[in-house]
Amino acid sequence: MLYQRSSALFDEAYQYIPGGVNSPVRAFKSVGGVPIFMKSAKGAYMTDEDDNQYIDYINSWGPAILGHTHPEVLEAIKKQAEKGFSYGTPTELETEIAKFIVENVPNIDQIRMVSSGTEACMSAIRLARGFTGRDKFIKFEGCYHGHSDSFLIKAGSGAATFGNPNSPGVTAGTAKDTLLARYNDIEQVEDLFRHHQGEIAAIIVEPVAGNMGCVLPENNFLQNLRKLCDENGALLIFDEVMTGFRLAFGGAQELYGVKADLVTFGKVIGGGLPVGAFAGRNEIMDHLAPKGAVYQAGTLSGNPLAMRAGLTTLQLIKNDENFYQNINKTTETLDFEIGKILNHKSIPHRINRKGSMMSVFFHVNAVSNFEEAANANHALFNNFFHQLLKKGIYLPPSGYETWFISNSIKEKEIDRTLEVIRNFEYS
Ligand code: PMP
Repeated sequence: MLYQRSSALFDEAYQYIPGGVNSPVRAFKSVGGVPIFMKSAKGAYMTDEDDNQYIDYINSWGPAILGHTHPEVLEAIKKQAEKGFSYGTPTELETEIAKFIVENVPNIDQIRMVSSGTEACMSAIRLARGFTGRDKFIKFEGCYHGHSDSFLIKAGSGAATFGNPNSPGVTAGTAKDTLLARYNDIEQVEDLFRHHQGEIAAIIVEPVAGNMGCVLPENNFLQNLRKLCDENGALLIFDEVMTGFRLAFGGAQELYGVKADLVTFGKVIGGGLPVGAFAGRNEIMDHLAPKGAVYQAGTLSGNPLAMRAGLTTLQLIKNDENFYQNINKTTETLDFEIGKILNHKSIPHRINRKGSMMSVFFHVNAVSNFEEAANANHALFNNFFHQLLKKGIYLPPSGYETWFISNSIKEKEIDRTLEVIRNFEYS
């Protein structure tokens, strides 16, 4: 494959955009090579500026769960666009999507729309602090909740990939209120509650982590977090930016049967347009402005184009009764078949998977927290990434990320992907 145009476009972008990209992982810095500039995407495929085609396993980092440019979502966006892009006033559509989500997701009475997952998590923490009157919160090493200051402490995703999980610019004053624990280590959480009695407003957790690669909760981790929150008067925040509407329509709450006090959303909820949201019970959500005193706002919050794309996407999922069964089956097949090939090649590996999220770690040991994810063979992942990329398989460009399977990936795409992996040269 040739990457001439991508290469030229990257050189030009580099002059005007920091690092040439608007979000760090896109720069391919950890895997090396030139980032690929896309020009279009449809269904399971993306096409780059040099006309190379790829089967896409990122799917815009999760939002494109139906595959790219679904015709019905496209039509709905076009229809809305004819009526206006943004009014800065309330619209009926915002209530329509809010009602639809509240009726379909467990334990929430109200939902507030924002424009990104970062905003959703940042606002949820502010609300938890306002509600409890406490300052501190617990997050887990390797979890990523967006780039708001208080989350950039041992953060996952790009922050981990680039080795700056603790970003300069985050003040010591901010950092002191973020308490850290190891994912899946309930004893560390117990210790934190013991040492900071009456000070902890909330625990925020990715119920299935996707930002240190895919890491699953083990040994009733989520149930035990719920219990500790109840015992200590803290709120449990499920960051379902990745898992919401992906693992089940009701997200991880539904899948694991654990109630969260606040839930944050992003990605799928916007159908590919910039949307985030946070939701909870009336007694908590009533503290938000304008009803309550906790301030939160957004010029483009509830934007009609974004709401229409989101609602149409959610309705398409909801109306397909086999949706999750199918997408999970595809992912299971990939997991199983890739495992067989790597075993055959005697390549040490672990595949973590939940629903339509999965990661291949080149590691002999199980991966259940950030340290273990970091100990995987990332150089080998980079080699794997590039060999697949050259053959038109687009994986996330970092071993700390999750593959997101879309409903457009069918047998043909799986067969092609496995054929390419069979030819992977391990040296
Ligand atoms: N939370 C989680 C679990 C995420 O995966 C992400 C983004 N990948 C965010 C929050 C932040 O969302 P955004 O990039 O839309 O700000």
